[in-house]
Amino acid sequence: VPDWPSAVSFTSRTTFPPVKKLPKAQKRRVLVTGGAGFVGSHLVDRLMFLGHDVVVLDNFFSGSKSTLSHWVGHPNFELVRGDVVEPLLIEVDQIYHLACPASPKAYQINAVKTLKTSFMGTLNMLGLAKRTKARFLLSSTSEVYGSPTVHPQPESYWGNVNPNGPRSCYDEGKRVAEALTYGYARQDGVDVRVARIFNCFGPRMSADDGRLVSNFVVAALKGEPLQVYGDGEATRSLMFVHDLISGLIALMESDYSEGPVNIGSPDEGSVLSWASTILALVKDLRASGSIPPLPAGQKESEIEFVPAVVDDPPRRKPDITLAKEVLAWEPRWTVMAGLEETIRYFAGQLAEGE
Ligand code: NAD
Ligand code: UDP
Repeated sequence: VPDWPSAVSFTSRTTFPPVKKLPKAQKRRVLVTGGAGFVGSHLVDRLMFLGHDVVVLDNFFSGSKSTLSHWVGHPNFELVRGDVVEPLLIEVDQIYHLACPASPKAYQINAVKTLKTSFMGTLNMLGLAKRTKARFLLSSTSEVYGSPTVHPQPESYWGNVNPNGPRSCYDEGKRVAEALTYGYARQDGVDVRVARIFNCFGPRMSADDGRLVSNFVVAALKGEPLQVYGDGEATRSLMFVHDLISGLIALMESDYSEGPVNIGSPDEGSVLSWASTILALVKDLRASGSIPPLPAGQKESEIEFVPAVVDDPPRRKPDITLAKEVLAWEPRWTVMAGLEETIRYFAGQLAEGE
């Protein structure tokens, strides 16, 4: 008799989140590229809850295995370390193509790689969609509108993008990804969807990825200054991540394939006003005991103005008439409720790190 435990004890695990049991005919094989990132991991959660088979392809450049650790070992789930710039041979029914760093700090680290990811990565995933006859969804961005001269931005607006500035690797990368997507649709009949995503926030953003919400929340929690770039008059419209996931799935499942669809919140505010809102909310949550107090002797954060960044779009707000019409979708979370969830998440992360 061997003196080590039976292998059976290693293979039966019951601690997974609940997953719907789907009849075989309704179960899809779904590939999520960039599934270990902020948005991707929430999308994977939702697809898993719905009962589908999910494969994640990620090179962990800006994502992390920890965002998906709760699924590792589940029979419906597979995590593949790989890069979308390399071809992938796999059989799938749907492809959510999210792989691409999304924060300005991350995508500017290696501009050429960001462009390769958008161009070669999208080319490879469209080739895969063509061979397998999978439906393909591209996560494009409001950045394709650049510094918009039309406000709010409808899908029909062609944009005003600097083709060679520090943000162009991302903006032009996504523009070429859109062009490729519709090229494959027209030439090869690939069934495509394009979501133009506006600023989104929520739990699992990485604390140091440099975006507005993560920077301001983490600074407010640590009692450090909230740094506003420029005069703080630039506007952004903030959407909570669970709304984005509902929008992406609604678009994938819809019959609308004619063109891109804006997925964003029309809740527009200046960067300065978001900084003040986050600061006030953190104070309220501390006062109510929902999050830990500041360490004794430490002062509350203040807002600090620092030099503006190059090519920062001065305003951003989606026109979501099309999404309402063709997807019956609009955000359901208020920004305040989303911010509260996000603040609690980062407070937990900081407490764990201590
Ligand atoms: P993220 O950086 O958290 O996630 C991107 C994921 O893609 C990461 O896990 C990263 O490791 C992976 N990745 C990057 N390059 C890769 C490559 N070459 N091969 C394989 N994997 C690669 O960003 P996010 O906020 O989750 O954004 C996801 C998608 O949504 C991106 O395509 C982004 O452009 C788009 N988007 C996001 C927002 C937003 O506000 N979060 C707004 C507009 C568009
Ligand atoms: N921003 C800021 N301080 C920060 C982070 C961001 O003032 O610590 C500003 C930034 O200049 C921009 C807005 O907030 O005007 C949104 O920035 P983010 O990086 O979140 O997204 P994007 O610029 O891609 O919309």
